[in-house]
Amino acid sequence: MDVIELTRKLIAFDTINPPGDEAAVMAFLKELLEGAGFDCRLVENGERRCSLVATKGLSADASALAFTGHLDTVPLGDAPWEHPPHAGVVADGRVHGRGSADMKGGVAAFLCAVLESPTPPGGIVLLLTGGEETGSEGAKAIVKAGGLPKIGALVVAEPTDNRAVPGHKGALWLRLKARGVTSHGSMPQEGVNAVIGMAHALVAIDGFVPGPSHPVMGLCTSNVGTIRGGLNTNSVPDFCEVALDMRSVAGADHASMRAALIERIGSRIELETIVDLPAVWTDPEDPWIAAITAHAAKLASTDPEPSSVPYFTDASVFTPALDNVRTIILGPGEAEMAHKTDESVSVVRLQQAQAIFAAAIADWTGELS
Ligand SMILES: [Zn+2]
Repeated sequence: MDVIELTRKLIAFDTINPPGDEAAVMAFLKELLEGAGFDCRLVENGERRCSLVATKGLSADASALAFTGHLDTVPLGDAPWEHPPHAGVVADGRVHGRGSADMKGGVAAFLCAVLESPTPPGGIVLLLTGGEETGSEGAKAIVKAGGLPKIGALVVAEPTDNRAVPGHKGALWLRLKARGVTSHGSMPQEGVNAVIGMAHALVAIDGFVPGPSHPVMGLCTSNVGTIRGGLNTNSVPDFCEVALDMRSVAGADHASMRAALIERIGSRIELETIVDLPAVWTDPEDPWIAAITAHAAKLASTDPEPSSVPYFTDASVFTPALDNVRTIILGPGEAEMAHKTDESVSVVRLQQAQAIFAAAIADWTGELS
């Protein structure tokens, strides 16, 4: 199986989310992996929505090496594409198409590595997810279904330009709601203005740093993304709503961040959770993390210094569910390509990623830690 051909095949499936529709690509992967001796289990999360758990060579007294990647993609946007977005055109040393970088190229690279490698002690687990782009729905369904084997390390093949990245920030997105009492705009004294109530809360969180800092990840942050309130010019608004995007570093706990927020804005502003995904971080000194980082530095000339990526991944769901298993984010795509018109992935980066993953499989001893 050739990594370029497999990337092109995966791009050919239209898995734009919404609606997602991962059923066809998962059926293709299931057949491919069953042909290679994997046990496969589809996990559904809606009509034509699914994820795939594939395992091979599991053992009771060793832990498996796991790879994960999502098969859904974001929409195409309104701008025209240079190459048809599902044709998988290879040109200028790159494979072009929606999902090439984020992250069908990464999935193709680990599948090729797994298919060409002898199964290591403890075995291989593949967590092929749908619904990632709209909040890790597939990963959540896999965790909810349960029955995952013992996993000793997790590779997330999201775009890092083949740099081994030991973590990413978490996200706590909240909807803030202020309520008031409506009245005629000429008699504001008869009402309670919800927009003014929200305005006071927003001034109180201007520049709000919701948690501790981290030596590599930096600061926890907060951003007011949207605001909506009021019906017309001549009414006192009785409702105002804000979407707040907070990003957390490893060591920041979301319950404390929420408490710190309430302390600033007061308890009269209602809070509703939109997204709650924790940060992911593994000590770069961990021997397995150090080894795969060295492989990436050697095989792809990437910087071995610990870093983090700004986006979050399915690891926010899998890593805590797997007892905070050691986790690396490493994939051939470039993060800047993700979600863009004319998305593409470098052929050389695809081949390097396959080689890095093959080296990680060859290293794997399955020793329980
Ligand atoms: Zn992605």
